[in-house]
Amino acid sequence: MDLLLTQEEIAFRDEVRAFLEAELDHDLRRAERLNPSFVAYPEVGRKWQAKVAKKGWAAPAWPKEHGGPGWTLAQRYIFDQECERAGEPNFRGASIKMIAPVLMRYGTEEQKRFYLPRILSGEDLWAQGYSEPGSGSDLASLKTKAMRDGDHYVVNGSKIWSTLAHHSTRMFALVRTSDTGKKQEGITFLLIDLSLPGISIRPIRSICGTHEFNQVFFDDVRVPVADRVGEEGQGWEIAKYLLEFERGGSFAGGALRALHSRLLKLASEPLPDGRRMIDDPVFAVRFAEIATDIDANDMLELTAMSKVQAGGNPGSVPSSTMKILRSRIRQAIAELAASILGRDALRWEEHRPLHELPEEPEIEEERKVASALYFNSRSQSIFGGSNEIQLEIIARTLLR
Ligand SMILES: Cc1cc2nc3c(=O)[nH]c(=O)nc-3n(C[C@H](O)[C@H](O)[C@H](O)COP(=O)(O)OP(=O)(O)OC[C@H]3O[C@@H](n4cnc5c(N)ncnc54)[C@H](O)[C@@H]3O)c2cc1C
Repeated sequence: MDLLLTQEEIAFRDEVRAFLEAELDHDLRRAERLNPSFVAYPEVGRKWQAKVAKKGWAAPAWPKEHGGPGWTLAQRYIFDQECERAGEPNFRGASIKMIAPVLMRYGTEEQKRFYLPRILSGEDLWAQGYSEPGSGSDLASLKTKAMRDGDHYVVNGSKIWSTLAHHSTRMFALVRTSDTGKKQEGITFLLIDLSLPGISIRPIRSICGTHEFNQVFFDDVRVPVADRVGEEGQGWEIAKYLLEFERGGSFAGGALRALHSRLLKLASEPLPDGRRMIDDPVFAVRFAEIATDIDANDMLELTAMSKVQAGGNPGSVPSSTMKILRSRIRQAIAELAASILGRDALRWEEHRPLHELPEEPEIEEERKVASALYFNSRSQSIFGGSNEIQLEIIARTLLR
């Protein structure tokens, strides 16, 4: 999709391109290209974040008053498209895109002053503590308990699938502070320092071979009441606000387009029998359909983001719709890539991270990571709330 850019926007785009050309070096690009996960390896992400933070661009959607660049919607769109086209490591997850907007809306002045600069500089990396072993889709049934004891809450229980908790310094967590009334009304939102005594973290290896998530255990962990966001019992409202940002609070079109271009490279390479998949009419139609879906996603994103730009939130129906569309696009790309490999898709490279292996021609490396990307793409329709749950949210909201 081509947007008509003004002279200023073209100048901005060129500035972003020049920055990426100078700072996003070969090793960073290769590490991201060979990363099968939906989040960057922390050591790679941190290196890149330090560079963008130095330039003042670490949090593209933040307003100026909190240290963001205060960009227009068009600038944010351009920045995202250029970064993804260049292959930047994906590191703006739970910290910059999820907990930050919550703190800006619901946090106390003290919480904003303390936490936001630490997110911007990369000093703090946040993990999300929503899911529990018995509570995923039915999140409101969560059981991790927080009992008030003077100026502290004493937390006991366990969170699971906590992405990057083993590298994080803090976790935002939903905890149960009351068992009476509706189950949603007894939930409170806490900010937990992961170095506190009583916290242990157990690794879980994902189907794509990386250690990206964990189970976190809380055993009499004392969390200051000052680290509660909002009121006691307001956690469900805040949790839902955050989920809108997780599912649809940022652009994904650039990343989808970059994956689509990688698919084109794979499909343009001759197979052992000399054929090229891109010349196969069935493949070409599927490839073109995905391109159209990416354009449709762009339109949804721009509409939702214009609401955020005007000080609102993306809205539950648009964010759930985008979550479904994006995950379907990612999975369709990964499936087509795996289909090009044929039986070679079964060759599995165990070593992680893949970028530690000796460098090979780019097309060989694309083949090496394709199966792992396929497996990881399955998670797209699960995390952030499964696609079935998104359909339920859309139906409940529109049919009410
Ligand atoms: C890669 C990855 C990273 C994640 N990172 C985090 C994280 O950092 N922090 C965190 O808190 N969580 C995280 N999650 C957890 C994620 O939010 C949950 O997996 C998700 O909400 C689904 O919950 P569940 O796994 O318990 O599945 P279940 O809730 O047990 O669902 C199982 C199946 O049943 C279907 N289902 C359930 N209820 C309904 C219903 N009412 N109607 C129709 N179908 C239904 C679901 O769609 C799904 O297909 C992550 C998950 C993945 C895969």
